[in-house]
Amino acid sequence: MANSKTGLVWFRADLRVVDNTALTAACQRSDNVIAIFTSTPMQWHEHNVAPIQVDLIQRRLGVLRSQLAEIGIPLLINEVADFEEAAKSVCEQAQKHQVNHVYCNKQYEWNEQKRDEITGHLLSEQGIKFSAFDDACIIEPGKVQTKNGDPYKVFTPFRKEWLRLFRLAMPKVQSVPQVKKESETSVSSLSEALFVHDKIELTYPKKDSLQWPVDEDAIRQRLRTFCSEKAQIYHEQRDIPAIDGTSCLSPYLTHGALSPRQCVSALLEVFPHCFDEPESGAFSWLNEIIWREFYRHLMVAFPRLSRDQPFQSWTRNISWRQSESDLAAWQQGRTGFPIVDAAMRQLKETGWMHNRLRMITASFLTKDLLINWREGERWFMSQLVDGDLAANNGGWQWAASTGTDAQPYFRVFNPTTQGERFDPDGKFIRTWVHELKDVPDKFIHQPHSWPGAVQINYPAPIVDHKSARLAAIEAFKIAKEQL
Ligand code: FAD
Repeated sequence: MANSKTGLVWFRADLRVVDNTALTAACQRSDNVIAIFTSTPMQWHEHNVAPIQVDLIQRRLGVLRSQLAEIGIPLLINEVADFEEAAKSVCEQAQKHQVNHVYCNKQYEWNEQKRDEITGHLLSEQGIKFSAFDDACIIEPGKVQTKNGDPYKVFTPFRKEWLRLFRLAMPKVQSVPQVKKESETSVSSLSEALFVHDKIELTYPKKDSLQWPVDEDAIRQRLRTFCSEKAQIYHEQRDIPAIDGTSCLSPYLTHGALSPRQCVSALLEVFPHCFDEPESGAFSWLNEIIWREFYRHLMVAFPRLSRDQPFQSWTRNISWRQSESDLAAWQQGRTGFPIVDAAMRQLKETGWMHNRLRMITASFLTKDLLINWREGERWFMSQLVDGDLAANNGGWQWAASTGTDAQPYFRVFNPTTQGERFDPDGKFIRTWVHELKDVPDKFIHQPHSWPGAVQINYPAPIVDHKSARLAAIEAFKIAKEQL
């Protein structure tokens, strides 16, 4: 049709039709719309993405394709080798389908931003418009600023300002958009459309990946159930790994099957004033969503964070230890510290780890073993179903005292007392460290002091916490003195 406007929506980490800013804009401004997802195995490899995460994305793409088909939008899935090819592929498809405008939601990581710059250039050479929207955060990066217009470097004042802006403009969830005219492009007629579902080999039993359903009803139900049944007591239960006290929604937020606005709107439906009730469980959960925003805002303000650099520059001077065997013991859950080992084994076997345990295991690697946080960051990304560059980097740098932790570097978690505090009866430990199942409660956190310890095949602690703590503090002190 002459002068008909065709929009192309490029899906990346926003795999949903509800509350999707780019999709909504494309539908409002175009006569018909097509969509594309560029699958880049090379990029997955470079970013060390876990197979269980790839599996989740692929399953979700199947759902997205059906949801888009229902509103008359075909989804092309193109496999490309790298970022540049992704940009070229989008440009080629845009030309081929006589698209006049390409829409996407921004990704804030360095490589992704470069990819989008290339795409913008390629498209403008062809006279095709390109619009990228801020959609991944409730308040867009760059908007939460100090009075001097600087980005916040510490969480608490960031949160205060974030809440002030939030009160001024509460997020609204956009409904599924309507297209003016169904696209005549059918997916099956596109020879380059490739659905890569069977290419990933999961090392876990399939049931573990199915703990992460991808259909809309199941995800929304998980959110609703959390808000109505668990949010109220979230602050009391969120630190106990043996209790199912957190939402387990992070994989969906990471890939955008769910938006942060949907999460907060669902919370406000049950607790309309929770943002003014700092003692409440609901506020405590909102606080975690704000942490998610904080790390994304930091990534935009300090691009070095996605380039392997520490947030605190002086920590570049730390002399990290090199020990393949200690790193392997940590990765395989054989450190001799039960809470660390239980957490690391759960991660390896299921792709999941509770937040408290992420903090304990990260502290153990970077402080007790004095191994570079980058090793841990990489390992987590290669295992986690919710692996997300901003949150993972933020969490690792926080734990390693190279990031935004307001506490000084000499905060070192004691893995034994952390276990005693957050898994008092050893229920979580026994679930994952089967060798310890018969160890009495009294000894579960220090099984080697149990007289029956000789009978169990469990490694002796690979470090002495007390002296390791002092060594770590000394290494940080020396690095700081080199300023
Ligand atoms: P809930 O407790 O229900 O919280 C709700 C949501 O808030 C989460 O789904 C998540 O999107 C966000 N959130 C919660 N805590 C944090 C936090 N500390 N920082 C940023 N966002 C948060 N989170 C990831 O999504 N991906 C990661 O790769 C990741 N790596 C981490 C690595 C380390 C070393 C640490 C300490 C934390 C990491 N986190 C990561 C943050 C946190 O552990 C997970 O978001 C949380 O455990 C997910 O469980 P949940 O969905 O039940 O969270």
